[in-house]
Amino acid sequence: MRNIILDRDGVINQNPPNFGYVCDWSEFAFLPSSIRAISDLTYADFNIIIATNQAGIGRGIITQEQLHKIHSNMVSTLRNAGGIIKNIYFCPHHPDAGCECRKPKPGMLQKAIQDHCFDPSTTHFIGDSISDIKAAKNADIAPVLVLTGHGLDTYQHYASSQFECRKYLPDKIFTNLFSASQWLIQEYV
Ligand SMILES: [Mg+2]
Ligand SMILES: [Zn+2]
Repeated sequence: MRNIILDRDGVINQNPPNFGYVCDWSEFAFLPSSIRAISDLTYADFNIIIATNQAGIGRGIITQEQLHKIHSNMVSTLRNAGGIIKNIYFCPHHPDAGCECRKPKPGMLQKAIQDHCFDPSTTHFIGDSISDIKAAKNADIAPVLVLTGHGLDTYQHYASSQFECRKYLPDKIFTNLFSASQWLIQEYV
């Protein structure tokens, strides 16, 4: 069985403007085909987990209850389309808090791997930011970059920068979660 861990903002749903936070379900907008991607992965027997930085909680912009409400709406919308999310890990801490879970640290990914007995060598992490690629590398799982959300900026960063970031290159790059899902299904099912 293959395992996939997904970043949320910029991969499943649109990034809120101005590096803000989704504070209410009414502000949560699925990216095109991300619902279909998650249901296709579910039908292909992938375990799907989400790992998301939500520093809006640490900044006092959104409460944990609001986040849970958004996630329960997201999970049930996906479930109605046939997609199953096994678990959601989130880092609620302020970026300055120095916690072990905020990406690019690997804490959330390591916990997901442990809790669900994932084999890191059969797990991919899909994200749109440099911190996602780094977190995956730091957890010894394969990073996949999508060009939605901050993905184009991330791609340009890799294209323009030199040696120092080479060790954090993504293994694969796709236009969006849907094309990534079709590759995973073709490759591993
Ligand atoms: Mg993101
Ligand atoms: Zn944290």
